[in-house]
Amino acid sequence: MLFSDVVGQQHIKSMLRSGIKAHRAAHAYLFLGEEGYGPLPLAWAFARYANCTETSETDACGHCASCRKMDKLIHPDLHLAFPAYKQKSDEEAPTRNKQFLQQFRSALTANPYLDYEDWLACLAPEGKQLNLTAEDCRSLLQRLMLRHFEGTYKIALIWQAGLLGKEGNILLKMLEEPPPNTLWMLIARNSDELLPTIVSRCQLITVGPIAEEDLVQVLRARHTLSEDQARHLARACEGNWNDAQRLLQQQISDMAPVFVEWLNVLAANDLLAAWKWTEHIGSLSREEQKAFFRYALAFLRQWLYARFAANGQYRISDEELQLTRRTLARLNPPQLQQLACWLERCRYFIERNAHARLVFLNLTLRTRSLIAA
Ligand SMILES: [Zn+2]
Repeated sequence: MLFSDVVGQQHIKSMLRSGIKAHRAAHAYLFLGEEGYGPLPLAWAFARYANCTETSETDACGHCASCRKMDKLIHPDLHLAFPAYKQKSDEEAPTRNKQFLQQFRSALTANPYLDYEDWLACLAPEGKQLNLTAEDCRSLLQRLMLRHFEGTYKIALIWQAGLLGKEGNILLKMLEEPPPNTLWMLIARNSDELLPTIVSRCQLITVGPIAEEDLVQVLRARHTLSEDQARHLARACEGNWNDAQRLLQQQISDMAPVFVEWLNVLAANDLLAAWKWTEHIGSLSREEQKAFFRYALAFLRQWLYARFAANGQYRISDEELQLTRRTLARLNPPQLQQLACWLERCRYFIERNAHARLVFLNLTLRTRSLIAA
């Protein structure tokens, strides 16, 4: 993982780099944000940059011995802690990090934006809960006490640190007075999940949604997408790279024309057109139908934001904007809220295999009456 592999987040990369260059890196960083915004890839690229022996102005070299090991997460100075499930007996507990480490490395290599749900699905037998235990903390401390092997920095990376709970207390002393040249990197969704005493010992790095322009650029570079398709996708995923990947798989970008057609039907108040549209979407796969709702809800959120936020700018195409003037713009805020509820409700029905044509026809007729009211 190089900085250049991380989508967007330029200002964070530059801040992390300058800390290392100026030899004034903090000893503990807390990366906060949804997995899909990239807190883990940023920490990983940072760890690689910190120990690279031939860094360039902007990135690790990618080919020195340290880089090659960091890339596979097998660097002897990189110490990982991550949630796993409880072992049957206490005797097995000390080895649990070792037991799951290979799986964790593979999962991260496959998707550096790995989220908790995917890790859970990859790891746990049904019904198991994942946690970080006191034993995980002690094992991490022990490994940090070992002498340096190869790198400039010893790095302790705790993923899903929000699951530490009160066990986080075990880390406090070492967080405050770490051995020299130690970099702590804690990664969590938000700071409320952590003990305030931990948060206060770390430099906070808030990782927000990836900027739309960055997403469009990377989506186009990595997939064969038109500018329009990439832009639709970037808007629908709301800055979350994992959602972009999922939506890409579900071809949600193809849902934009279906959504525009729906707005057309609503604007025209044409029963035959409504019927035809219902037939068309009813013939699509369940995944595509679910993608329609995801697209519609994301569109509605952005449209509302653009309309009611101060200095709001429409981030939607001219065609869509024209159509919303004859449809969504006629609804008052409570009615828009009502529409969002219906969309959620319909998605729920579709997920549970309701009769698709009926669901979509009902949705269309009700929305039409709402606009006409
Ligand atoms: Zn290197």
